[in-house]
Amino acid sequence: MATVRVFSLAKKLGLRSEALIAALEHVGVTGITAAAAIEEATAQAVVELLAEQAKHAREEAEAKAAEEAAAAPAAAPEAAAEPEGWVEERRVGRRGSEPVVGIAELERHVRELQQAETKPGQETTYALPQEARRQRGERPETAIAAPPIVTILGHVDHGKTTLLDTLRDTAVAAGEHGGITQHIGASELEHDGKRIVFIDTPGHKAFTAMRARGAQVTDIAVLVVAANDGVMPQTIEAIGHARAAGVPIIVAVNKIDLPDADPTRVKQQLLEHQIVTEEWGGQEIVVEISALTGDGLDTLLDTILLVAEMEQLWVEPEAPFSGVVIEASVDSAQGALATVLVRSGSVKVGEVVWAGGAYGRVRRLRDWRGRSVKEMEAGRPVSIVGLSEPPEAGEIVRAVGTPKEARALAEDYRVQARQRELRGVAEVQLQELYRGLNLGETKSLNLVLKADVSGTLQALETSLMELSKVLPEVEVDIVASAIGDVTESDVVLAVASGAIVIGYNVLAEDHVLRVAADDRVEVRIYNVIYQILEDIEKAAMGMLEPIYEEQFIGRAMVLQLFRISRLGVIAGSRVTDGKMQRGARIEVKRGDEVVYDGKLTSLRHIKDDVPTVEAPNECGLLVSDWRGWQESDTVEAYAQVEVERKPVAVAAE
Ligand code: GDP
Repeated sequence: MATVRVFSLAKKLGLRSEALIAALEHVGVTGITAAAAIEEATAQAVVELLAEQAKHAREEAEAKAAEEAAAAPAAAPEAAAEPEGWVEERRVGRRGSEPVVGIAELERHVRELQQAETKPGQETTYALPQEARRQRGERPETAIAAPPIVTILGHVDHGKTTLLDTLRDTAVAAGEHGGITQHIGASELEHDGKRIVFIDTPGHKAFTAMRARGAQVTDIAVLVVAANDGVMPQTIEAIGHARAAGVPIIVAVNKIDLPDADPTRVKQQLLEHQIVTEEWGGQEIVVEISALTGDGLDTLLDTILLVAEMEQLWVEPEAPFSGVVIEASVDSAQGALATVLVRSGSVKVGEVVWAGGAYGRVRRLRDWRGRSVKEMEAGRPVSIVGLSEPPEAGEIVRAVGTPKEARALAEDYRVQARQRELRGVAEVQLQELYRGLNLGETKSLNLVLKADVSGTLQALETSLMELSKVLPEVEVDIVASAIGDVTESDVVLAVASGAIVIGYNVLAEDHVLRVAADDRVEVRIYNVIYQILEDIEKAAMGMLEPIYEEQFIGRAMVLQLFRISRLGVIAGSRVTDGKMQRGARIEVKRGDEVVYDGKLTSLRHIKDDVPTVEAPNECGLLVSDWRGWQESDTVEAYAQVEVERKPVAVAAE
């Protein structure tokens, strides 16, 4: 049975754990901690309850606001939009002004979740971005092979732009007529009669930023490393980003025309970053090239096609149109321009499309060379003219029936985007909530590590791996590790990978922390390795399946019976020891004999339904499947209590 942990469900719902625990008590789950795992069905029950609560609260607030507005027309009605209740507000981020999320937001989360759950086959709503990754592997009959989408990554000045330019020039020279009239942000090449698509914005920041929005565009990463310069900080970062995306890497050792080129040294350096080349028994393919002279580019293209073949990429040409925005801008003459990778189906001039806050009728389509086309098929990039505004990179574009419909979708999207912005809610979290509820909690603790020098970085990695061994149920996954201060790029990577950033003897500047707070990424800076290990261990322990033990929690004496036809028999009792707890297992004893053993369905104090009543108070006990109470019965209550796990000793350094 899939489970989800209380604290993570709370986080995803935008609640404090205590608030969720209180809500869980209302659905009969008692005596648990924030680290406890609850079953998916329970999670859904509590989510429904919260939705119900949120709805009531909102309706009440609206009624109140309407009343107030009627009484004093000048009063701002927004003031009452987030009423108080046990649905508490979330605190977001870790510093400075902390935006909060209230009931309206929660209600929206829940609604989206429910939509996503009830209609798995249908298109997901915009607020729940799908992993817009290309289909791969076994394909349906209607599918056809798709050209690979390649992104070029690497350190600055290592030749990314030159490589793209040379490839493009070759392609254009080989083509029959005309050059490139207008760059659209992606280029297409034909090699051996097969197409390859290159994304024009090289660099891992754009690559990962798009991934953080839920759109994985790249199929293959080409890592450019200058043969004279060797592996540099951004090379290492790029490796981390490609690895985190699970994208195959082809290393292009560039500038081999230079006299001081030393490809062997580059390969040795790459070994330190777990890039083991084929000649040394590994899997990674290294191609030596000169982007300037064109040497080795044929081999590079061969290699890309080879890797693409192994990836078995496909698209469905007959499916409804959808695509991913890879770039957008505004042109003074043409208005909004959006370059889109067609992911399925095809897009045609005259069709109505919608992408996030943008919509419109396709007025003109251009291929990668800027030439007008009537239609663009799946697997290829196209520039779309006719949208109301430039959509954001990573946004999904779809065909919609009518302009009216498209406009409503876009407007709705914009309103919600504004709310999200105000409240600082990352969409990624929603996606994760969805996954969490559906697949159960993944027990992988993802980390992005930064340290001052390679020695400490290695020590840290080794210790973390050791820790991972003594905690076999949790997988500590180092998404990336590098030397240097914590950068925005680290934060973006952490968002995309659901990771925590750990810095050792490094800094994280204020603007980086602000980005982290906005994206709700945890950044932790340490000066003592031991403390890192201790904290990670605590976090990992919190992810382990809790151990429960049944413990005696209290005793009560039945004083008087109340028969209520609709409900059954309520045993008016006094708690003499400890407490009574709703949902607890109870044994009703008459003398030495146990006359009932079952679950305490309902617990009342005076007239209220309550989760617990402590000694020496009086209470009403009700069980749904038994009415045989007698005065003077004693009731013993037992609850599942989570037992604390013993920490495992961790060797530091
Ligand atoms: P980017 O920052 O990675 O995009 O690097 P650029 O493509 O702008 O290249 C940086 C510099 O390296 C430019 O001066 C290029 O002309 C030069 N360069 C790029 N590739 C080669 C190459 O294969 N050989 C030589 N000699 N120079 C190169």
